[in-house]
This record gives sequence, C-alpha cells and structure tokens, in this order.
Amino acid sequence: MASKPKKITVADLNSIEKKLQKKSDESIGNYIINGYRIQISKYNQSPTERIRAFAKRRREQGLCVACGVKVKKLNERTGLPYKYCDYHHELALESRKSNVKLK
Ligand SMILES: [Zn+2]
Repeated sequence: MASKPKKITVADLNSIEKKLQKKSDESIGNYIINGYRIQISKYNQSPTERIRAFAKRRREQGLCVACGVKVKKLNERTGLPYKYCDYHHELALESRKSNVKLK
C-alpha cells in the first residue's frame, strides 16, 4: 500500500498546500523536496474511510480496485480505465446478476 515518494518542487508544494487548505484528499501522498521527505496522510481515519481512499487512489492510477493490476480496457463512454481488471469485472457482473436473481 506504500507508494513511492514523488519528487516535487517548491511550486508543487504550494499547490499541495492549497489542496490542504481546501481539505482536499488530493494533497495526500509521499513527497521528496530538496532531499526532505514529506508525508501527508489522514489522521484518525476510520478503516472504512481508509479503504475508500485506497480504492480511489488505485482507480486514479488506473489499477484494478480489487487486486491492483493495471486495467487495460477503457470505458468507451468516459475514456478512462475501468474500475476492475477483466477478471474482477466479470466477477462484479456475475455478482450483480445473482443479486438480481435473489430479489
Ligand atoms: Zn482485479
């Protein structure tokens, strides 16, 4: 779950600071600036929030939310990678189908 620190400049730091002021989760990350490491993470985050943030981060990186594999297929509607890899996409469809059957 640990991501590699990202090298940033002072200008980047300013934009991260703005995101922090807006309390945006986009500020979360590991950064290296002039040889110093800055880690921004949520304090006192509930497990649910943490999982949600983790899934969101995977999604933004185009990784399968379930297993972290790079998603190759793009959603034609949005032009963005799907939430799941082929395998988990099928699995999600299957469970949706069986949920419908239960009703
Ligand atoms: Zn997957």
